[in-house]
Amino acid sequence: MIKTKLLTTIEIQELKDRFSTPLKVVIIPHKNPDGDAIGSCLALYHYLKQYQCEATVIAPNDFPDFLRWMPGANEILIHERQRDQATQCIKSAEIVFTLDFNSLSRINGVAETLEYFNGDYVMIDHHQAPDSYAKYTYSDTAMSSTCEMVYHFIQMMDDNQKITKDIANCLYTGIMTDTGSFRFPSTTSKTHRVVADLIDKGADNSTIHNAIYDTSSLDKLQLLGCALKNLVLLPEYNTVYITLSKQELAQHNFKKGDTEGFVNYGLSLKGIKFAVIFIESQQEDIVKISLRSKGDFSVNDFARLHFSGGGHTNAAGGRSTVSLEDTVKKFTDLLPDYKVQLQ
Ligand code: 5GP
Ligand code: MN
Repeated sequence: MIKTKLLTTIEIQELKDRFSTPLKVVIIPHKNPDGDAIGSCLALYHYLKQYQCEATVIAPNDFPDFLRWMPGANEILIHERQRDQATQCIKSAEIVFTLDFNSLSRINGVAETLEYFNGDYVMIDHHQAPDSYAKYTYSDTAMSSTCEMVYHFIQMMDDNQKITKDIANCLYTGIMTDTGSFRFPSTTSKTHRVVADLIDKGADNSTIHNAIYDTSSLDKLQLLGCALKNLVLLPEYNTVYITLSKQELAQHNFKKGDTEGFVNYGLSLKGIKFAVIFIESQQEDIVKISLRSKGDFSVNDFARLHFSGGGHTNAAGGRSTVSLEDTVKKFTDLLPDYKVQLQ
């Protein structure tokens, strides 16, 4: 079900007035930020700097190397490593933007630091079931990406001319990564119009594609080989799953972001409706789970119900606190209940 909460004209005017007087702003993406999370935060950061805003992006933890080229990426504070500096910024902030997530449970320790924050939240997000912590909520589950929403937000603010080449590059990146390069069903003709305008405004589309997808290390490619060897096909449920153990990650010198997109290989098999990857965490005692589907089968519901997660109908994440083996057993034991939905 598509749910939309737009900003009112009065809210837009209020924000514009506040941006036009000296204002301290913090911008926060979700933990394990991806292209859409970092792209939307940096685009907003470059946009707000054109007003009287002192803006800081604070990410809960580090982001993958393939996003490091993005304009402004070096100025992002990592809460996990730079807690004191991040806390100072949050304490003095008047507005906190939360981008590409809709529940404060998605930002790890940043949520505790935010107990010092006394100002107003602005949420811009396209995930389902938003919490109600924000004074200003722009939520639209039909949108391809938070980056597409930041583009529309800038238009609502009547600031089309403020979209610089840097902003265009950031927004293009997030739309491209969240749509699987413009192929997921969330990609609309409107998405393509936004992307066309971003290219007109200077987005280096081909260079960005190269920077994100064609900068793999040999270790990463061989880890993909390992993941594909581990793939298990369950034809009676049109389902596949992949596992990666801590040992397998270590053997391939795993770096953050190396497993990005692996789960989609499962979905590329003919007739498959449900693909899952289980990755044993090297830092925490958990198994990180990524779930993808085609059609009506909601991995958002499945992840929420069984694996403390959520996301979108066709792409969600979750976690499990039991062993990799037990997690897979829990998963396969659940499938008979979904047999009809997965036909
Ligand atoms: P990924 O599998 O790439 O980590 O995440 C897929 C989608 O689900 C992304 O949009 C991501 O933001 C969302 N997601 C991932 N993990 C969680 C989670 O634990 N809770 C919720 N609500 N969403 C998640
Ligand atoms: Mn997103």
